[in-house]
Amino acid sequence: MLNRQGRPSSAGQAGTAEHPTFTGNKALAQIEPLLFEIGRYDTTGVDLDEPEDFKPRLGGLERKEPIGLPGLSEPETMRHYVRLSQQNYGIDTGLFPLGSCTMKHNARLNERMARLPGFSDVHPLQPVSTVQGALELMNELGRYLVTLTNMTAVALSPKAGAHGELCGMMAIKAAIEAKGEGATRNVVLVPDSAHGTNPATAALIGFKVKPVPAREDGWVHVEDVKERLGPDVAAIMLTNPNTCGLFEPQVAEIAKAIHDAGAYFYCDGANFNAIVGKAKPGDLGVDAMHINLHKTFSTPHGGGGPGSGPVVLSARLAPFAPVPFVRMKDGSFELVEQNNEAGGTAAPFGRMTAFHGQMGMYVRALSYMLSHGSDGMKQASEDAVLNANYIRAGLADLMSLPFGNKPCMHEVLFDDAWLKDTGVTTLDVAKAMIDEGYHPMTMYFPLVVHGAMLIEPTESESKASLDLFIAMLRDLAMSAKNGDTERFTGAPYHAPRRRLDETRAARTPVLKWTPSAPVAEAAE
Ligand SMILES: *Cc1c(COP(=O)(O)O)cnc(C)c1O
Repeated sequence: MLNRQGRPSSAGQAGTAEHPTFTGNKALAQIEPLLFEIGRYDTTGVDLDEPEDFKPRLGGLERKEPIGLPGLSEPETMRHYVRLSQQNYGIDTGLFPLGSCTMKHNARLNERMARLPGFSDVHPLQPVSTVQGALELMNELGRYLVTLTNMTAVALSPKAGAHGELCGMMAIKAAIEAKGEGATRNVVLVPDSAHGTNPATAALIGFKVKPVPAREDGWVHVEDVKERLGPDVAAIMLTNPNTCGLFEPQVAEIAKAIHDAGAYFYCDGANFNAIVGKAKPGDLGVDAMHINLHKTFSTPHGGGGPGSGPVVLSARLAPFAPVPFVRMKDGSFELVEQNNEAGGTAAPFGRMTAFHGQMGMYVRALSYMLSHGSDGMKQASEDAVLNANYIRAGLADLMSLPFGNKPCMHEVLFDDAWLKDTGVTTLDVAKAMIDEGYHPMTMYFPLVVHGAMLIEPTESESKASLDLFIAMLRDLAMSAKNGDTERFTGAPYHAPRRRLDETRAARTPVLKWTPSAPVAEAAE
């Protein structure tokens, strides 16, 4: 295939096999080459005056070759990015059932608030007297998070859930060291069902990870935890509700056992959306928990967009909270930046980021909270749980539930037992869902379940939307059971790209684009 400059393009197949098109486009689904393949190197989209004679001051390091940036006009540039964006699938395009990720609607009101110039244009090095409103917002958000979780302190600065885990575990490490147990308490218990970031976090700061095995009911059992407890255990990292979509019924007993052994309870709060306004982690004995603002409190995520993972801390860990934090002093807000300014018995373990964290995320999250109110946030959790159970009930006769057909929290976990002898795998089902216009569910996670399919609809979806989603999955399930394997193994048939060799992409990634014609030649 040739692109608009008549050069072979790396873009996909022309049309479909049955109906090839001249351009390679599929009607409105336009094939889009790379910017470097469209642009010419001898033109520029902007008119710049020739620079006046000047004396180079780069000591001979100035560029001798053409810079090699594609020159494009504004409409060409615009079309390139708009076309790419049209190939994207997001929560604004359709249902996004990616379990554990809480892909919920991000109300436009939140976006408007985040774009208020007083929030969007603040600079982290501005004098604090000029950013009192922004600091007040951070203080208010922190107060809401502490209240919703019944904890003592909050560290707002971590920039993602995994970063929050690191923050919480560093606070735990600091507390252990303050007690003089740093050399002896070096083990962290992590259930097999945990998100991979949990053991990675513990290992990163020098803890040994001891797994707690999964049971056939999907729950972590207090006896299994007790068996592994000893004077060497620093903490447990437990996800609640867990990654199997279940509330841990023994969580309070586990917390007690952990505390009796002199250890700390880190809770992975990524699934907080199931219990906001219903259960407070502080009441369950949690010592530290990250909250993914970009999951529970809306705010856009995915595609590497900014996240925010504030950590709430119990009274035992509050003194070790990192700087910076917002404090009220003499009627105005200040940002405490230095450990020795923290005051009282506080002994911050240091800091997580250069500045204060993700301002835009704070604004969106507080906007979400204020617009919902406490009753609305509780209802959002209830609706999220109801929606997941509606999907469970709608599919339980065709797809298999690894822990029996019992109520789930805000996500429902299926395994691949229902695909036995069909020749179709979890991956194939996910690819067939793409042809049906859906982003696939989370696959092969948690690891404790074979061929896992973790579906989280969130509270955003209407009954009509859920009914269509269920009907689509029922249709796929019937196809698989009736031997229509072709619908699966060749899928996706209709996506801009067909099935990719993901293993090869991961093992031998192509990290640098090489021009199909040398830049110098193209510039002639
Ligand atoms: C999303 C998630 C994380 C990590 O959060 P990020 O914001 O992606 O870093 C950790 N644990 C669980 C269970 C999650 O779902």
